[in-house]
Amino acid sequence: MSFIAELSQRMPQRVHAPGSPEYEAGAAVFGATGTPDAVVRPASAAEVAEAVRAAVDAGVPIAVRSGGHGSEPATAGLVIDLGELNGVELAGTDGLVHVGAGAKWGDVAAALAPHGLGITSGDTLDVGVGGLALGGGIGWLARTHGLTVDILREVELVTASGDVLTVNAESHPELFWALRGGGGNFGVATRFTFQAAPVDGLVGGHLRWEASDAPAVLRAWRDVLRVAPDELNGTLLVMPPLAPEMPAGPQLAVALRGSEADLRALLEPMTSLDSLVEESLGPVQYVDLLEAAPPGKPPFLFVGGNGFAPDLSDAALEAFARAVDREIPTMVLIRALGGAFSRVAPDATAIAQRDGQALVAINGILPPDASAEQVAAARVPVDEAMTFTTGKYANFTPEFGDESIGDIYPPATLERLRAVKREVDPGDAFRASHHIAP
Ligand SMILES: Cc1cc2nc3c(=O)[nH]c(=O)nc-3n(C[C@H](O)[C@H](O)[C@H](O)COP(=O)(O)OP(=O)(O)OC[C@H]3O[C@@H](n4cnc5c(N)ncnc54)[C@H](O)[C@@H]3O)c2cc1C
Repeated sequence: MSFIAELSQRMPQRVHAPGSPEYEAGAAVFGATGTPDAVVRPASAAEVAEAVRAAVDAGVPIAVRSGGHGSEPATAGLVIDLGELNGVELAGTDGLVHVGAGAKWGDVAAALAPHGLGITSGDTLDVGVGGLALGGGIGWLARTHGLTVDILREVELVTASGDVLTVNAESHPELFWALRGGGGNFGVATRFTFQAAPVDGLVGGHLRWEASDAPAVLRAWRDVLRVAPDELNGTLLVMPPLAPEMPAGPQLAVALRGSEADLRALLEPMTSLDSLVEESLGPVQYVDLLEAAPPGKPPFLFVGGNGFAPDLSDAALEAFARAVDREIPTMVLIRALGGAFSRVAPDATAIAQRDGQALVAINGILPPDASAEQVAAARVPVDEAMTFTTGKYANFTPEFGDESIGDIYPPATLERLRAVKREVDPGDAFRASHHIAP
C-alpha cells in the first residue's frame, strides 16, 4: 500500500488528495501552486506528530505550511498544512498569548484588539504566524518591542521523531535559541506563546513627497529616527514611476504610541520640506495598520537585496537615493529598527545583526523576460547600496540556497544552528525554505 493510502487509513478525515478544496488550499503558496502527493490538515499537535512519524518512517519529503507566504511550492511528498491550528488565546492577565502556528497575523491582531493588546509581528494581514515567527518578524512595533522572536516565550514543537516538546529558555535553551530566527529547520511548531503589549493610544498615518526630493526626505527620516523614542515606528518607501495609480516618490507610513502633537513635533524635519504633497495623520488602531497582501506576486522580475544598515550615514543614504534615480525602475524600502530591536544581544537569538538602525530592501523592477544584460545593469546600484548593510533578513530573502544561508547567518550563528540541527533532526526531515543542513 502506498504511503498516502496508508496515512489516509490512519487519519481518514485529515488526509486530502488532489482535487479536494483542502488539497488545493494546502498546495498553494503565495503566487504559485504545488503538486505534493497529499496534504494533511491535522487538528492537534498529536496528529501532527502522527503525520511526521509516518512520513519520516516512509522517507517521504515533508513541507510545512502555516500561512504559505514564504515557501516554494512543494512538488512531491506531504504538505503538513497547519490551517486548523489557528487559535488565539489570552492566557490570563499578564499579556501572555497562545497562538496556533496556522493563524494569520491579521487574525491575531483582531483577536487582541478588544483587549488593547498587540504582538510585534509583520505588517501584512494574511502572512502566517509560523513562518514569520520562526524567521524573525519585523513589523510595526519593532523599535518598541523588538522582533517577534524577542517576545516569544515558548514553542510547542513536534520533532522528527514525533515527540511533542514544550520548548522554552529553561527546558531546551539551545533549541529555543535556534527556533528564534533559525526558521523551520528543527521541527513543526504547532503553538507559540508570545508576550503581548498594550497598543492603545496610537497615532499615525501617511505622508508623501515629490519624487525629485528623495535624497532630502531620506536624510530627514534618518534625522527623525536618531532622536525619536522607541514608540515611533515606520517605513519609508521610495517608489519609482510604475503606473499612474501608484504615485512615484518617497512615502512614509508611520505610527507613534503617544499624542498627535508629539508625532507632529517629531516629524517636523520631514513635514517642513516644501516637497510634501500629502499628509494624513491622526488616531489609528494597531489592527488597522496591517494591510492585505497583494492577490499574488506582481508580474515583474525583482532584482534586489536586503540588509541591516548599522549606520544611516550620508554616504549610505546617497547610495540608496542613487539606486532610485536610474533608468531601471528601482524601489527602496527603509524599515526603522534600532530601539528595542538593538538592545537584544547579538547572540540571544539567531538574528545576530542587532546593530541595525534600519532594514533596507532595494529592488530593481524588470519585465519577467528581462535579458541577462538588463538584470546585470539592475544589480549595479543594488550591490553598491548593499555595501552599506550587513547580513540579510531571512524572511525578506526569496533566494533559498547555501549562498543565501551564508548571507543570512554569520559563521558562528550558522555553526550553532547546525549543532542544534544535528541534535534534533540528524536525518534532515525538515528542509525549511532556508535550509540548514545538519
Ligand atoms: C506579502 C508579504 C508581506 C510580508 N510582510 C512581512 C513583514 O511585514 N514582516 C516580516 O518579518 N516578514 C514579512 N513577510 C515575509 C514573511 O515573514 C515570510 O515570507 C514568512 O516565511 C511567511 O510565513 P508563512 O507562515 O506565511 O509562510 P509559509 O510559506 O507557510 O512558511 C514559510 C516556511 O517557514 C517554515 N514554517 C512555516 N510554518 C512553520 C511551522 N509552524 N513549523 C515549522 N516550520 C514552519 C517552513 O519551512 C516554510 O517553508 C512578508 C511576506 C509576504 C509575501
